[in-house]
Amino acid sequence: MQIQQYSLVLQQQRKADSVKKQCKMCGKVTLFTDTTIRRHNANGKNIYQFAIYKCPENHSWNKKLDIYKTFSDHVDPASLVPTEFKAIEPGEKITINPIETIEIKILGVAGNFRLDCTLADHIEGWSRTEITNKIKAGNIRLNNCLTKPSKKLSVHDKILIDVN
Ligand SMILES: [Zn+2]
Repeated sequence: MQIQQYSLVLQQQRKADSVKKQCKMCGKVTLFTDTTIRRHNANGKNIYQFAIYKCPENHSWNKKLDIYKTFSDHVDPASLVPTEFKAIEPGEKITINPIETIEIKILGVAGNFRLDCTLADHIEGWSRTEITNKIKAGNIRLNNCLTKPSKKLSVHDKILIDVN
């Protein structure tokens, strides 16, 4: 049985914001708009969070938002992403390969996130109804236990999905 491991950081979407700034590509001051897409990069003991802004010509600027120390409340050293974990970026949907078991590790939670809604947001082609049924049937488990669709996710949670 193959296991495909993913990691996920959950954050409420923010309102789009814009900043006037010199665009190196355009060679002038222009208006950069927040795409509300967030990216996380791990570097040694820190996790950096970036907001991706775009100018009207679609040039990107990554604004550094936060640095999470791995020893802070935000990120536990034990939860640091091993390389075999693929990060699911905010707004990204993963495509599930039917021969694999999927494991999703929750690395951070800011806000309220239900299990069923979170999976519907991040799995391509799976409706919330299908997800609810899989949770009820025990094909989707949380920390290896049966759970309910409305279960709120917490940091360090591990979602296991049996595709078959
Ligand atoms: Zn530009």
